[in-house]
Amino acid sequence: FDKNHLLVKKNYFFDQYYQHNGALIAKQLIGDALRQRVESIDHESCEPGDEDTFFVGDLGEVYRQHMRWKKNLPRVKPFYAVKCNPDPKVIQLLAGLGTGFDCASKAEIEQVLNMGVDPTRIIYAQPCKTNSYVRYVANQGVKQMTFDNADELRKIAKLFPDAELFLRILTDDSSSLCRLSLKFGASLDSTDDLLALARDLGLNVVGVSFHVGSGASDPLAFRKAVQDAKTVFDQAYSYGFDLKTLDVGGGFSGDTFEQMAHTLRKALDEYFPPHINIIAEPGRYYVSSAFTIACNIIARRTIENPATGEASYMAYINDGLYGNFSSIMFDHQHPVAKVLSSGMRTYYNTPLADGLPESVNAGIEYSIWGPTCDGIDRITESIRFAQELDVGDWLYFEDMGAYTKCSATKFNGFSDSHDVIYICSEPGARAIMDF
Ligand code: PLP
Repeated sequence: FDKNHLLVKKNYFFDQYYQHNGALIAKQLIGDALRQRVESIDHESCEPGDEDTFFVGDLGEVYRQHMRWKKNLPRVKPFYAVKCNPDPKVIQLLAGLGTGFDCASKAEIEQVLNMGVDPTRIIYAQPCKTNSYVRYVANQGVKQMTFDNADELRKIAKLFPDAELFLRILTDDSSSLCRLSLKFGASLDSTDDLLALARDLGLNVVGVSFHVGSGASDPLAFRKAVQDAKTVFDQAYSYGFDLKTLDVGGGFSGDTFEQMAHTLRKALDEYFPPHINIIAEPGRYYVSSAFTIACNIIARRTIENPATGEASYMAYINDGLYGNFSSIMFDHQHPVAKVLSSGMRTYYNTPLADGLPESVNAGIEYSIWGPTCDGIDRITESIRFAQELDVGDWLYFEDMGAYTKCSATKFNGFSDSHDVIYICSEPGARAIMDF
């Protein structure tokens, strides 16, 4: 009778159960949260702002993504990219799960430090840093930071000579949604000079970093970047630097994760021996699917087709491109509207919630617009629903956790911060969050 084996087996089945059922449980809990909130609003008499757009955030989904990461990339320690969604509960959960944090500014570093995270768990992964922020991190003991040019090296030599530096190299990010190499990354023909300068300035280069672009779609971009990083590791040794860490950046998404992870894992094992630490800076991967947003239809315009007499509608909702749908502009996303409620009926997570397939020329056609004065503020050009939607009805959009609320503005006087109703579809995360 092997008690330990039994425990492993029990944990395995527990794991399987939640991996498969977690998503179902999540749907249930998200639906309950959306419904309760919407049903609590009396649209006839509510105060201004009561019917504002709101999020439901599932911390269980963040937890599941973390387990999935550990399973597929056991060698790679994630440093969550705070810029992607600096939600305090997400950060608290990830801190509890033991991840590190990639921060881009003083405010992000301060937020993470204030959660009690040790400075050694933070990388200031911004190759072009503000002087006063460098002085701030020097005081706080946040030593790890990236650089990719000679001026930055001179800045660091002056302000924080003890920093632990990662040389960020250029990647081929042509297959990614958001290209970063247009702006950052040292080309391989400049790394030699940079390492020589770092040595002459007496600086401490401890690693190499790269980013294959946010929303990357070509796993081979990871392979090529790992190969290039190995070249720079070898160059660095020749300058007397004993590099200990490779930072493989972000660029992971939920849909392609296993494929990306497989290619990356193989490349890492081929080029980097086990004593080299590997870290990453995933953002989107952790939070995209964890947040659902609900928006209220605040106005409607009827458009009649003079030829057919058929009516279509422009639906105006209380959030848009200048708000949480900034991801359409900055992150090349196409959020898909679903019907949450219409009249007295709730449609969440039923076939009637979804738009009709394009091939079905039935249903009622809508375009969906944000609340500001600008014509660019359009969320969807055309979608058909089975039912008629009117002012006061609600739509919801899934996968709204990445690069959404962090880049919302107050344009036209609309709020840039909205309620998040937290749910937790995983017992493991509940234990950490005291849910
Ligand atoms: N690290 C750095 C330096 C970044 O600039 C970004 C995104 O812009 C990230 C990590 C996060 O990338 P992703 O959300 O694609 O994982």
